Amino acid sequence: MSSEPKQADIWAALQASSRRTRPVAVLKSSFTSSDELLVAGPSSDEKTAPRVNKYDLLCPREGCGSVILKAQVGKWVSLEPTPHPALPALPSESPDVDCWLVMPNPMAFENIGFSRAVPTTTPGVPKKKLLACAECDLGPLGWCFEGGSEYWLVSDRVGYRSA
Ligand SMILES: [Zn+2]
Repeated sequence: MSSEPKQADIWAALQASSRRTRPVAVLKSSFTSSDELLVAGPSSDEKTAPRVNKYDLLCPREGCGSVILKAQVGKWVSLEPTPHPALPALPSESPDVDCWLVMPNPMAFENIGFSRAVPTTTPGVPKKKLLACAECDLGPLGWCFEGGSEYWLVSDRVGYRSA
């Protein structure tokens, strides 16, 4: 926020160092199937084990790659085409949205940013907050509801660290 002349140099140095260490995000479209992104979560029973993210989830912006969620923290869920009565319409009208469900609070994330609460049009439904990269503000990557304990990251809006 400072306008000191050296700010640009510092920023450039930060960028350079981050390029060396930042992981590269691979988009979901680069995988042949969603199954490649999944691994069975911890459970005593294989059949009921949730499927969780095999890879760390990253900001998809080239040059950012901020780690959003560690591997095996997000649960794979396919949201139904018909909105649940308790939920407002999905951000897009796409028929099926595959998401990583993160619970129970923002501490589950490595890094995440929130938008201001957006009022929903459905009566009785809490305000929605959009999720964005905490470092570069790229978003929305998903959403949550004000005061809720569930956070959805849209699977094709995040990157994957597969190497
Ligand atoms: Zn980012």
